[in-house]
Amino acid sequence: MKILVLNSGSSSIKFQLFDANTNKSLVSGIIEQIGERKSHAKIQFKDENGQNIILEKNIAIKDHKAGLEIMNALLIESKIIKDLCELDGIGHRVVHGGEKFSKPTIISNEVIKEIEKLIPLAPLHNPANLDGIKSSIEHCPNVPQVAVFDTAFHSSIPKYAYMYALPYETYEKDGVRRYGFHGTSHHFITKEAAKFLDMDVNKLNAITLHLGNGASMSAVKNGKSIDTSMGLTPLEGLIMGTRCGDIDPAIIFYLSRTEGLSIDELDNMLNKKSGLKGVCGNNDMREIGELAKEGNKKAKLALEMFSYRIKKYIGSYSAVLGRVDCLIFTGGIGENDIEVRKNSCSNLENFGISLDLDKNNQRAKETIDISSNESKVKVLVIPTNEELEIALQVKSLI
Ligand code: AMP
Repeated sequence: MKILVLNSGSSSIKFQLFDANTNKSLVSGIIEQIGERKSHAKIQFKDENGQNIILEKNIAIKDHKAGLEIMNALLIESKIIKDLCELDGIGHRVVHGGEKFSKPTIISNEVIKEIEKLIPLAPLHNPANLDGIKSSIEHCPNVPQVAVFDTAFHSSIPKYAYMYALPYETYEKDGVRRYGFHGTSHHFITKEAAKFLDMDVNKLNAITLHLGNGASMSAVKNGKSIDTSMGLTPLEGLIMGTRCGDIDPAIIFYLSRTEGLSIDELDNMLNKKSGLKGVCGNNDMREIGELAKEGNKKAKLALEMFSYRIKKYIGSYSAVLGRVDCLIFTGGIGENDIEVRKNSCSNLENFGISLDLDKNNQRAKETIDISSNESKVKVLVIPTNEELEIALQVKSLI
């Protein structure tokens, strides 16, 4: 059984093809700079001798449909498939499923219309996801196509946790509420943790930390998300690469009045010029770590702020969950950054959390347990695999 996973952005399509019987990735690739004069298409796979093979094309790719045609040509050249149309299923990452979609869903015209209705909630992402979906259906009308929503795992959050204390009609009329994102990743690492700990996932209580350029945390009770740090949009919660996370909303009015900034300028500032980049001018955690070691004060401050925010969320989610079986780190920073993990978990012994600093002193290629023997809460590092999770969800549906 072969399942293709597509993650369509406004000018790119990332893809990965899985053998869904063995859960092995057969080939991955990216089509970039779609719509520009010079586009780039690349696939990567291992041949029968285990050698890494890369096939590339540099030609103008005018839209997502043309991108899929180039992808198909490269996959045929690789001899891994004869044509995209022979696949058993195609899974599409869709960022916003609103309140409508709480599960992976077979895509029909009706479903496309519903995803279109959600565009105001995700104006950058849902249109690009739809471009990929429509091109893929046009290309392979007979292959089952499934939408897997980033918000779906959080559909179990209770109303008292997803509502904002705003006039009620903003929820009824405009859909203003917490939706949460990175759901596929939080879900995947929750299930992996249950396997690793040999526990029934439906009995597992976890605090999940997806720390990448975008970052979010979730409180997971009995295997289900009951709270998460991102909100109506991915701007809320933790400090991120370029996003501010939680701030006093009055800062927006204040800056508008004092600096005369427009709504669009403030939107751009909070999403693209804030977070780690805003504080220290850099949003690459590796470089920030180096700068801090060299004595750069702003880099050091950015690191302190980053871990302090995480610690506050660990405290509040511990209170929300009561019993915590495990804390799970994932994402580019969570899987690799030893200092961030150490600082985020320091002085949490009263919460039953303590690290073994030697065990923490490694990067995770597979699930590792970095907690000390005394720690009541297991602290795990689990490499996330959102593409595999999408493929697994497609498989279970078709
Ligand atoms: P992601 O969005 O999950 O790809 O994560 C991107 C973030 O992970 C960036 O801030 C990177 O600097 C950070 N990152 C990736 N590799 C490492 C590493 N080896 N050590 C520390 N941070 C890393």
